[in-house]
Amino acid sequence: MDRPAEVAAQVAVVDSGEPDHYRYWVFRDGEYVRYRDVSLRLMTHAFSYGTGCFEGMRAYWNAKDRQLYLLHAVPHFRRLLLSARVLRMSVDYSVDQLVEAAREILRRNRFEQDCFLRPNVFKASEEIGVRLTGLRDSVTIHAVPFGTYIDVDRGLRCVVSTWRRISDESMPARAKIAGSYVNSALAKTEALEGGFDEAIVLGAGGHVSEASAMNLFLIRDGVVFTPPVTDDILEGITRGCVIELLRKELGLTVVERPIDRTELYVCDEVLLCGTAAQVTPVVEIDRRPVGDGEIGKITRRVQAAYFAAVRGDNPGYSHWLIPVY
Ligand code: PMP
Repeated sequence: MDRPAEVAAQVAVVDSGEPDHYRYWVFRDGEYVRYRDVSLRLMTHAFSYGTGCFEGMRAYWNAKDRQLYLLHAVPHFRRLLLSARVLRMSVDYSVDQLVEAAREILRRNRFEQDCFLRPNVFKASEEIGVRLTGLRDSVTIHAVPFGTYIDVDRGLRCVVSTWRRISDESMPARAKIAGSYVNSALAKTEALEGGFDEAIVLGAGGHVSEASAMNLFLIRDGVVFTPPVTDDILEGITRGCVIELLRKELGLTVVERPIDRTELYVCDEVLLCGTAAQVTPVVEIDRRPVGDGEIGKITRRVQAAYFAAVRGDNPGYSHWLIPVY
């Protein structure tokens, strides 16, 4: 771990005024290079056409164990490869190799704090012409220190978006495709500019799909409901965790079925979940309080169970984690 020459070099870089992350190690097509040494050119196919897919992953620092735990690395890289398949991409690395690459960049950067990782697979050919085949693909993974994305202790005020979720008939929501995020950005921006924290987006059929980058759960009379994977959602990995915790830790029934917009108005609790957002309560939707307008009891319990599991404080969920060091 002791590499004094390299530490000296890093200090020099920071002193040069370069952004901190320029010196981080990243993975690019089988090599470990510095962030500043990766360049993308203007004609890169994915830049114009959104022809890339990606993941968002977290690693949690456990100060007691002095360990960084990579959360659900295998499911994330599996989903990346499935998104790549939808985009007719060939990825030369196995899930295990990608997990190792993720661990290696975290180790090289010697991160001892919570981090966010962003694997990308994208059409890297410098070519004009919209299609998916006959193009060169590139695989990168980069990581940055990252704390809270959304304040999980404050309930969110949400609004149902005027934008509809992309439909499987036009752009598959179950694949995490770069271009699809324009849909999320339109909905999120509209919500923010309207004075709300987050958007809830309906699918083409009018059922609740998800939030801009989070899956949704509602609780009514002690039963938990969430939209099915056939309602144009990203098949969220945190969604799977929350279902597991609600069933195993809280002993609740979780039902996956289509959800009407107005069920949001009459339920007792709503929570949103995602890798970045973690488990976040919702206290208001379309200017109506959710339940009594306070953070719900079940939401609080599942939130606590989630944080204990992801940080490595509950040995019952150690299979969710891969130690980095
Ligand atoms: N839906 C969308 C549209 C997302 O971008 C995300 C974040 N990846 C989620 C749901 C939550 O997915 P996950 O729990 O796998 O992060």
